[in-house]
Amino acid sequence: MKYKLPVYLLILVSGVFASAQPRPAATLIITNATIYTVDKQLPKADAMAAIGDCIVAVGSSAEIELWRGPQTRVIDAGGKPVLPGFNDSHVHFISGGAQLDQIDLNDARTPQEFAKRIAAHVSKTAKGEWILGGDWDETKWPNPQLPTKELVDAVTGGTPIFVNRYDGHQALANSAAMKLAGVSARTADVPGGVILRDASGNPTGIFKDAAQDLINKAIPPMPHERRMRAARRALEHAASLGVTSVQHMNPDFADVAVYSELAERGELTTRIYAVPMETNWQEQARIGIRRSWGSAYLRLGAVKGYADGSLGSGTAYMFEPFADEPGNRGLLSDEMHPPSAMRARLMQADAAGLQLRIHAIGDCAIATILDIFSDIEKEHGYHDQRFTIEHAQHMAEKDFGRFAKLHVVASMQPYHAIDDGRWAEKRLGHSRARYSYAWRSFLDHGVPLAFGTDWPVAPLNPMLGLYAAVTRATLDGKNPDGWIPEEKITLPEAVEAYTMGSALAEFQEKEKGSITPGKLADMVILSDNIFNLKPAAIGNAKVETTIVGGKLVYGRKR
Ligand SMILES: [Zn+2]
Repeated sequence: MKYKLPVYLLILVSGVFASAQPRPAATLIITNATIYTVDKQLPKADAMAAIGDCIVAVGSSAEIELWRGPQTRVIDAGGKPVLPGFNDSHVHFISGGAQLDQIDLNDARTPQEFAKRIAAHVSKTAKGEWILGGDWDETKWPNPQLPTKELVDAVTGGTPIFVNRYDGHQALANSAAMKLAGVSARTADVPGGVILRDASGNPTGIFKDAAQDLINKAIPPMPHERRMRAARRALEHAASLGVTSVQHMNPDFADVAVYSELAERGELTTRIYAVPMETNWQEQARIGIRRSWGSAYLRLGAVKGYADGSLGSGTAYMFEPFADEPGNRGLLSDEMHPPSAMRARLMQADAAGLQLRIHAIGDCAIATILDIFSDIEKEHGYHDQRFTIEHAQHMAEKDFGRFAKLHVVASMQPYHAIDDGRWAEKRLGHSRARYSYAWRSFLDHGVPLAFGTDWPVAPLNPMLGLYAAVTRATLDGKNPDGWIPEEKITLPEAVEAYTMGSALAEFQEKEKGSITPGKLADMVILSDNIFNLKPAAIGNAKVETTIVGGKLVYGRKR
């Protein structure tokens, strides 16, 4: 390869020949690889060396060979591609881990299958334990209607169930669950939520957005041991998919306690930025925690808020009513009742040095949060706050410029586009759908993208995200050339959003996000060179090896 040797390497090499002084040997070398560094200084290389958790050199195999010592672990990549580890900018890590052991209703194709799977799960559930999770998706049913308590009561008996829709914005309770929660026909609706009712006013079992809390209140908290198990499952899963960092949105403080116990034992194999709810901002501020505070493995210092619900649940907050539901333009979240209360809390959290990361999906919710960010910037000045809008799904065209001007990061989940893209246009209407999941428009406006999944809402596998970003081919096969193809981005752009972009969203762009000397040695070896594959095949590529902090945390048998 033709490029200049890095200066420090030249000094080091000449120093060795001149004086034969011992030189620190690498603890890890990856050689004979095709490294895509995501570093514009040196975009491609054959090899890299790390000492401990830090990358010390990137270059040709011959150059890197100079770092080999008797104890060096050498991985011959056999020409395979090496990328920086993936950084998922939006996950619910512990629920994801818990869900790996929970009931899976997502691919139940009929209501009968849905009820059958629940019945099977009831038979292996201890008495009094709740059945949670599920991720059901009624749009996959022949006649897409929301499930009801009647569908499941006969098979669940006294076992309480509260199974969520895959987007997390509505869930189905059975009669046993409603009884434990004290919910009946007399229960009033709550701001930011809906209790679905039948013709005689009885709850059907469906609880939307804030109304889910009526049932959630009755669910006993996850005991420490279960939480620990869920965290370990999640870490294993992330390692197997090459996800070396995650940004955990609205964890319980008990989740953070689990992480810190695992960090102490050296068992964290994924780096975690925990982002608790904005309603609790004072808890972090009181002890002086500021944005991105902590260690390389576990950091705090941001707050997560919700401006609205989701498109699938009809609770994304829009300027105009939904095309298929004329009376409804969605819901502001309970945190936004009124928006001035949210504004006041976010203003104080920003003053305390906490990063603000706000879920906003509908165009009006996004605009309202941009208004709040603009007020904060006016009052406190721009100090590289890195506001993020989480999801930023359905944009009003006029707001791209404001996004850029306020330096807001768009933290987005490409898989949602190929999933929701099956039906989103029906909800939004053709012209309003144009700026949905508008990655191209964001980049063209100079807005940084950070990619992730919202796992367990979508699968954690980054290959599916990359595939979605470059193809926009909806899961139903109806848009092979892409749904709103104008908003496709290139594979290098998608990889950058999933590595450097996510690092930027958590103030870690100097520590990770690219394969660069001085950065953390977090990287993956892939089964196939995704840059040479047809876009349609990218989703099938596998991670073969995952390295975090210079240590192998996952290796697939070849
Ligand atoms: Zn989320």
